[in-house]
Amino acid sequence: MNKVILHPRREYATVHHHPWIFSGAIRTVSGSPGIGETVAVCDARGTCIGHGSWSPSSQIRVRMLSFVPDEVPDATFIRKRVAESVARRGAFLARGATNACRLVNAESDGLPGVVADFYNGVAVVQLATAGAEFWKDEIAAALMESVPGCTGVWNRSDVDSRVREGLSPETGLLAGAEPPELIEIYEGTIRYLVDVRKGHKTGFYLDQREARATVGSYAKGADVLNCFSYTGGFGLAAQAAGARTVTHVDASADALEIARRNAELTPNSAGAAIDFIVADVFKQLRLYRDQGRQFDLIVLDPPKFADTKASLMRATRGYKDINLLAMKLLRPGGILATFSCSGAVTPELFAKVCAEAAFDAKRDMQIVERTRQAADHPVLLSFPEGLYLKGLVLRHSFCGKCQM
Ligand code: SAH
Repeated sequence: MNKVILHPRREYATVHHHPWIFSGAIRTVSGSPGIGETVAVCDARGTCIGHGSWSPSSQIRVRMLSFVPDEVPDATFIRKRVAESVARRGAFLARGATNACRLVNAESDGLPGVVADFYNGVAVVQLATAGAEFWKDEIAAALMESVPGCTGVWNRSDVDSRVREGLSPETGLLAGAEPPELIEIYEGTIRYLVDVRKGHKTGFYLDQREARATVGSYAKGADVLNCFSYTGGFGLAAQAAGARTVTHVDASADALEIARRNAELTPNSAGAAIDFIVADVFKQLRLYRDQGRQFDLIVLDPPKFADTKASLMRATRGYKDINLLAMKLLRPGGILATFSCSGAVTPELFAKVCAEAAFDAKRDMQIVERTRQAADHPVLLSFPEGLYLKGLVLRHSFCGKCQM
């Protein structure tokens, strides 16, 4: 079998079960592994410590699949990994609070580069790495077999990061029946239409499920501003929880059109007035500032501002700007639910950026709650990079002018 031997000074992470091996950590490669093929990984003394997938064009040259030296990953191994990952979500789905969840969360579920989400009978996969692509047919077959009620597997492997792996984008049916144009899912009383062909990621942001419920708990009677709304997300949770008004703002008219339909499907017992604004959030917040508009609850859930550590400076400026503007639009005692899905931005850095925004906005804010990606998006302890989504629920508490 093809084999890589690690550099003596760079073997620590792999020996401690970190799944990524960077090119600089490899001393020698014996054999000529093909793209995505399995290689044996040995420590500097030549002792096998496990097996991983070969990514010849990526800086992350090997992604570990197993740390059991005599377990050589094959089709049966991959199918079992998928089935185990699905089984871990069994009890959650059986509770019936939703019919959509993440089934496979990549490295943290022992399947690097593989994401699979379930939307009311349809599994949608995103294969981001050479190894994930190599095992595509086994992954699709295993999902059909192991997911109760699975009618088809749709491929949404059109992520930009595939370029780094020497892969081109791919979408289409992998197994079973074609999915409907829009799939209806529910989270409690909230209804969403999901477009798995053209929607973001695999179609929807399942990772914010718990944070949406948290935001809902502050929404009764509130004037809510839902920035970066996508198909409604947090604003629908606020609507269902009895908000007075909900204003959704997003740059995408298509996403807001689905948000409008979702708002009609979701309960609105308080008769909230609902607005959909196609606009750039950076500009819209300034417009509201100039108009003197105020809100009780503001949500900021922007897209990833930082892809890499190099883009961190620009990202922190972006986070500071929108948070500062939003804090100024809060009524006394108002709530700001603010999020960052940039993996390069740590929870500490995010809190620091928010603190600077509060200082410049002349608002004293309290952290009331912290949120993270939902429980069906677990993080392997040996892979802290798996924690990408963090949120702060901040309350405007007191300031020089308005003691409360
Ligand atoms: N909160 C949503 C997910 C938000 S995803 C949920 O819970 O489902 C980020 C959204 O930001 C996308 O819908 C994208 O269209 C939008 N977006 C990106 N840049 C923007 C900008 N500058 N102004 C307004 N919307 C923007």
